[in-house]
Amino acid sequence: MKIKKCEHCNRDMAYNYHYQAYECKCGKVYNAVGQELAPIENWAEEYNDYQ
Ligand SMILES: [Zn+2]
Repeated sequence: MKIKKCEHCNRDMAYNYHYQAYECKCGKVYNAVGQELAPIENWAEEYNDYQ
């Protein structure tokens, strides 16, 4: 499993393969190249419809 550190709180984040994003316990979300995203719940429904 890929692991990345959160830029906000420095905790290890696990990669969410379904949403292809890193989700931190502090609420920050990053994509695979480290760009910050909106919270997954904001776009999860749309994303799931698109798949
Ligand atoms: Zn964090």
